[in-house]
Amino acid sequence: MAKISIDLKAGKVKKESDVIIGIDLGTTNSLVAYIKEGKPLAVKGENQKNTLVPSIIHFDENNKIIVGDTAKEKLISNPENTIYSVKRLMGKSFNDVLDFKDHFGYEVIDEDEEKLVKVKVGNRFYTPIELSAEILKELKNRVEKELEATVSKAVITVPAYFNDTQRQATRDAGKLAGLDVLRIVNEPTAASLAYGVGLANDLDETVVVYDLGGGTFDVSILEIREGIFEVLSTHGDTFLGGDDFDRAIMEYWLKDININEKDNTSKQALRLLAEEAKKRLSSNEEFEGEINGISLSLDRNTLDQIISPIVEKTIDACRKAVTDAELEIKDIDKVILVGGSTRTLLVKEKVAEFFGKPVFDELDPDEVVALGAAVQADVLAGKQKDVLLLDVTPLSLGIETMGGLMDVIIPRNNKIPARAGRNYTTSIDGQTNLKVSVFQGERDLVKDNRKLGEFILKGIPPMPAGIPKIAIHFVIDADGILKVKAEEERSGVQTEVEIRSQYGVSEEEMAIMLLESLKNAESDMKARGLLEAKIEAKNILLSADKFMKSNKEILSPEEMKQTQLLTIQLRASVEGNDKDLINECMHQLNTYTNPLAHRAMDLNISKAMKGKKI
Ligand code: ADP
Ligand code: MG
Repeated sequence: MAKISIDLKAGKVKKESDVIIGIDLGTTNSLVAYIKEGKPLAVKGENQKNTLVPSIIHFDENNKIIVGDTAKEKLISNPENTIYSVKRLMGKSFNDVLDFKDHFGYEVIDEDEEKLVKVKVGNRFYTPIELSAEILKELKNRVEKELEATVSKAVITVPAYFNDTQRQATRDAGKLAGLDVLRIVNEPTAASLAYGVGLANDLDETVVVYDLGGGTFDVSILEIREGIFEVLSTHGDTFLGGDDFDRAIMEYWLKDININEKDNTSKQALRLLAEEAKKRLSSNEEFEGEINGISLSLDRNTLDQIISPIVEKTIDACRKAVTDAELEIKDIDKVILVGGSTRTLLVKEKVAEFFGKPVFDELDPDEVVALGAAVQADVLAGKQKDVLLLDVTPLSLGIETMGGLMDVIIPRNNKIPARAGRNYTTSIDGQTNLKVSVFQGERDLVKDNRKLGEFILKGIPPMPAGIPKIAIHFVIDADGILKVKAEEERSGVQTEVEIRSQYGVSEEEMAIMLLESLKNAESDMKARGLLEAKIEAKNILLSADKFMKSNKEILSPEEMKQTQLLTIQLRASVEGNDKDLINECMHQLNTYTNPLAHRAMDLNISKAMKGKKI
């Protein structure tokens, strides 16, 4: 069902599509796909020619932003205003990119207050998130033109090795582009889905995804069980790819011809010719071309020889990935090829030879990730009923413990289904009820997180504080529904509740919460420290009172007075908010009463032993 909305500015009626799009936001190229008449389809550009959008952003003299093929043309003529490879900067700090900042033709800077790196264009600074958002907007436009309707929901892929910050940055880029990012999916997972792997729930499979692009290489081993994709290992090289093949060909030719080091135009032309030769040899035996009137040729055998060391490096990585996954080659069921450079015949041959089986290469290796993202999107849209949802927990889940602290039981980004548990106990003698309050969020204090629900475990047999063994279990099923169970293990008393509001947090709320948690990390830590000190102080005060009451005759009046004085001091400090003062008062009371407690204990023991035979 498509909704109709009215674009007030244009005064037009605009259709809103319910299609969820799949996006491959790549280092070199990006593309968008969706399910059309039951089949994933990558969307072509205006000329109906190319599905790939070069991931390049150009700022023209009026600061207008151009993305894609037109921007790519500016790479040589206007490098400082033409941004490429932003994906390499996503979620990174200046220190993270220090080693390869010379790789960029534009200026990468750091600012004092902000940890994440920025790119300088003219006199403005852009975050990689803003730049990626421009690529995403271009893709969104492209699909909206094709569908003649607006789209607002998307699935975006990222490399399996992307960490939380990088994934979050990708999500944020989507948000900035006006997209509700329903899910961030691993590229190898998407590639598998494009081949239908993982769609049959009852099949357990181990799949290798070998992805060789323009400038990056990675290999991932996935285990798929009941529709759940788990990355067992990933290996690779973030600076290895088809560009290296081009360079090797250039070097080979440069043995025969002379090009001035400073002649950039000729060097660039030679590089393009090398790429052309490489591509041609993926389907022909020979290549002939010319540069500056000199003819150059290359045949398949020669190409294989000169790129062989590079291909071998990728095979080494495959070997490591298999070992890391604690598997043997015979355990691998399928091998899937991804990335433009897997069209190179030697690559196909060597990968098939290493894994000892034919590779999956029927789909266009440039499109396979986007096609899989579209399949995932379709699953999310509920169009493929018998497929399990693959997901991670968007925010941490936990319970409230003493003093209003958040105790995380299932952390953020944990894959689901998931189960986890932890043991607790009572804090009061004879306690028969225990309130379990469930929260979601990243902050240390539950009051700053979102309450999902609470229940009371009743009927705990009266026992001294600390004796009951209360296990709290969290189970999230494949639909994202959280069940919480509390059980007192000595007596078997238990209560279980289902909590359905897990996805009650909107994208916006989530972004705000995460931002807040970063901003408040320091004050949270202070608040936590203070609370912990107060809890400890109260416990010490309780024992001190008990101690004084039960040892009246052992303590001298002087000792009694001094102990009382120190407890009064500590009690007063707990009323305030000075953690250091509380700790100091605790320390004083402890140091003073420690020898007294030892003396009392010795006396009490010998009293108890009196008259007993050993
Ligand atoms: P990325 O994953 O980095 O965005 P791609 O998957 O788009 O990159 O791959 C780009 C690389 O694929 C380039 O090095 C390009 O030269 C190479 N490539 C494209 N077509 C062919 C072909 N027919 N034969 C060999 N290599 C190719
Ligand atoms: Mg790619």
